[in-house]
Amino acid sequence: MAQQPIDRSRLRPARSLLLLICLLAGAFFSSTQAQSCGSQGIAVQVLGSGGPELQDKRASSSYLVWQDGRPRVLVDAGGGSALRFGESGAQMSQLDVILFTHFHVDHSADFSALIKSSWFEDRNRPLPIYGPAGNDFMPSTVEFVSDFFGDRRGVYRYLSELLVPGENSSYKLQPHNVIANTKPAVVFRSGDLVLSAVRVVHDGVPALAWRIEIGSKSIVFSGDTNGNGEGLPLLASNSDLFIAHNAVPEGATGVERNLHMPPSVIGQVAADAKVKSLVLSHRMLRTLGKEDQTQAEIKKRYSGPMVFANDLDCFPVK
Ligand SMILES: [Zn+2]
Repeated sequence: MAQQPIDRSRLRPARSLLLLICLLAGAFFSSTQAQSCGSQGIAVQVLGSGGPELQDKRASSSYLVWQDGRPRVLVDAGGGSALRFGESGAQMSQLDVILFTHFHVDHSADFSALIKSSWFEDRNRPLPIYGPAGNDFMPSTVEFVSDFFGDRRGVYRYLSELLVPGENSSYKLQPHNVIANTKPAVVFRSGDLVLSAVRVVHDGVPALAWRIEIGSKSIVFSGDTNGNGEGLPLLASNSDLFIAHNAVPEGATGVERNLHMPPSVIGQVAADAKVKSLVLSHRMLRTLGKEDQTQAEIKKRYSGPMVFANDLDCFPVK
């Protein structure tokens, strides 16, 4: 799918020629070939830019953060993302960690497919998995993983060695429940990789937004949220790249609005947080085709560059 035009409105006319050259060179956003994403420096690859509807012809929500040719962090694993993961050239054995924002189907359905694929790779270190704690309505992250791979009741109990390794098993899944608050907190550190989370409101579903920092670069994933509360702008503060979910149009009401941010709220969060660039993903039938309206609403509040995501797009973090 073709990349949407980049918003150049914040740029001063005197710099327009230089800017055009920079844009053509992919200085802000570029959609490079899948196999080369993140070959140098930090980049985010969109594995799934869609929502739950199959007719959007997009994989559901999933993102891969690359550093110098290595995929380090997977965020969510919605339906279709396992295929996109393979197309990206990544291997499960290369991941440092998997993060979940929440456990709706469109964010988690391909988890078991990804894990099964890893069975055929040579991974010798544990694979940590972080996601929300549960409630009466949704499983916790620990429950979610054991509901698949637990040795007694797991759907795929034939792979239970992944949770309770035997003598010859190669690696172990390490699920963790994140007890998140309304203020961002560091959840995970490994070398130059720092992961922080904050609780966000997604109707009654336990949900997290994530900030991934590698060295001086920062990427923030809103996940699904209606934008209520101060946690998301705090988490996204001064981030290099903010990936927000464009699941409902302006004027949405009822359940849709309780679940998701309309464009005006996305724009306000991006402005309050002073993010350096904005990527709009989780595009659904109700927002596809309304990009001009969406962009106009966001621009009333946020003047930085923004772009609409497509599957396998690669966004280098400059
Ligand atoms: Zn969703």
